[in-house]
Formats: sequence, structure tokens, C-alpha cells
Amino acid sequence: MKDKGIVFNIQKFSVNDGPGIRTVVFLKGCPLRCQWCANPESQLIRTEIMWDAKKCLGCHHCIEVCPHQAARMQEGKITVDPSRCDGCGKCFRECPGRALKNEGELKTVREVMDTVMQDLPFYEESGGGMTLSGGEMLAQPEFAIHLLKAAKENRLHTCCETTGFASQEIFASVIENVDTILFDVKHWNSGTHKKGTGVPNELILSNLKYAFSTGKDVLPRIPVIPGFNDSPEDAQNLARVIREAGGTECQLLPFHQFGENKYEQLGRAYAYKDVTAYHREDLEEYRQIFIRHGISAFF
Ligand code: SF4
Ligand code: SF4
Repeated sequence: MKDKGIVFNIQKFSVNDGPGIRTVVFLKGCPLRCQWCANPESQLIRTEIMWDAKKCLGCHHCIEVCPHQAARMQEGKITVDPSRCDGCGKCFRECPGRALKNEGELKTVREVMDTVMQDLPFYEESGGGMTLSGGEMLAQPEFAIHLLKAAKENRLHTCCETTGFASQEIFASVIENVDTILFDVKHWNSGTHKKGTGVPNELILSNLKYAFSTGKDVLPRIPVIPGFNDSPEDAQNLARVIREAGGTECQLLPFHQFGENKYEQLGRAYAYKDVTAYHREDLEEYRQIFIRHGISAFF
């Protein structure tokens, strides 16, 4: 079984990603391409180079040292062609302005767990533990299983944030060692789901149903995205699919633009650049529709 995986962040003292105080391990790679994704650097299952315009000295040294002509200057920006870059690291190691950053690092289960276990007293005190997030942990299933088993061997509470997009066999084997599942539900209509995320929703809704059937603690979470799933009809139908899967509650996550800078640093266009963020008060009526349709929705 794979005991190494690509991790793009390990965040300590998180209080929004499952019960208590937690360490969140972000695995790189995701099969979805949500147009509003706040972590675009998490999507590719490989290391990636990000460029910060504010720090760049314009010396072009990165372009000169790149052995594969992957680093280029395009429209006044340094970009890296992922199809040419082999992650050798010359550009970011030699950048005099520290304008280039490598996202994603190959880590062993032991290395991750050594970091996670540093906060054991906080987990014991607060009822917290380890959360796997992403990206999508299901994109690195063997590594995720290995990490979750290691956490369980250390008697930690485990949680995951997932899109639920994998075969039921893979999904079942990964969640076996998960106590709390925070399950993203993005759209009730498969065609619209595919337009916004790149994939249809049948597998996701079937895995949501499976997750509830295991008797585990499952919380559907809905990112509420302007023009995508924010109509009264969407609220009513999202409540319906959650009910049909076996759920009675869900969490609403109002759209924000926290990822905008990251798109710039990756040299990619951000589809939601001029779209206004939602606040809780904007979505009160939307929330009430869930409640009227049998789902206790909260922020
Ligand atoms: S080496 Fe660094 S400072 Fe120089 S052009 Fe490249 S990114 Fe900018
Ligand atoms: S990591 Fe290596 S191959 Fe990739 S852009 Fe930098 S120098 Fe080029």
C-alpha cells in the first residue's frame, strides 16, 4: 500500500473542520474543476509553481535556468507550463526575489503523522483530531487509507471533507476509518453539476446515500454559489436529495472570493472575479426553504 502522497498543506489548530481542535491535512489532486474553487493550487495531483507579481524583480533568471523551457514570460507574467515542468525546483530555489513557490510535497505517512501527533494534548482536551481535506482525499485513496489507519492506531478522532466523487468501492474503503464525514453537495441536477464542476452528480449522490447507510456522522455541506445553485428551486431540490439520501440537516457555506489571488499566481483565469460574495443575511430566505422542506440548515 502506498505510504507516500502529495500534501499541499498541514494546518494546525483548525476549529472549522470537524469537532474540537484539529490538524487538517490537505491532499493534492481533485477530479472536479469547480469554477469557484478557493484552492485552485490543490487541483492537480502533482507539484505546481506559483508566481507572486509583487515579489518578482523581473530578472528572468527562472526562465534562463529552467532546463525544460517550462518557465516563460507571458503578457508580463511568469507562467509555468505544467506539461513541460518536471518539478526539478531550479526556478524557485534560485529566484532572487522569492517570488516563486512550490505547491505540493511528497510526504510519507510517518512524516504527516509526526506533525499531526504534536497536538495530541489539544485533541484530548477538545475532542478534536485529524481531518483529511484537499483537493480531494479520494484522488489519493491508498495514501488516505494509510493515514486514517495510522490516526486510528493512535486513537485519534478522524474526519474528512470530501466531494464524494469516486467509485463506491474506493469511497467505502476510504471512509471505513473516518468518524465524521463532511460531504459536499453542489447541485441536484446532474447536467448543471457537470457544467459547474466538470463531473456529473450520480456517483456523488449514491455515495452520499451509502455514507448515511453506514450510520457514521455525516454532514452534507452546500457551497452556495451565485447563479449556480442559489435559487429557491435549487434550495428545494437540494433539500430533497439530502432527504432522499437519509439526511436531516446540512451546512450552508456562502460563496467568497478567497481564492482569487491564487488564480493570479497560477497564471489562470478566475471565472468568479467580479461576482459579489454572499453573507449569511443574504441567504436567510434560502435557508428557510430547506427548513420548510425537512432539512435543518445552518451556517
Ligand atoms: S527568477 Fe524570480 S524574480 Fe526573477 S523573473 Fe523569475 S520569478 Fe521574477
Ligand atoms: S521546477 Fe524546474 S522544470 Fe519546472 S519550471 Fe521550475 S526550473 Fe522549470
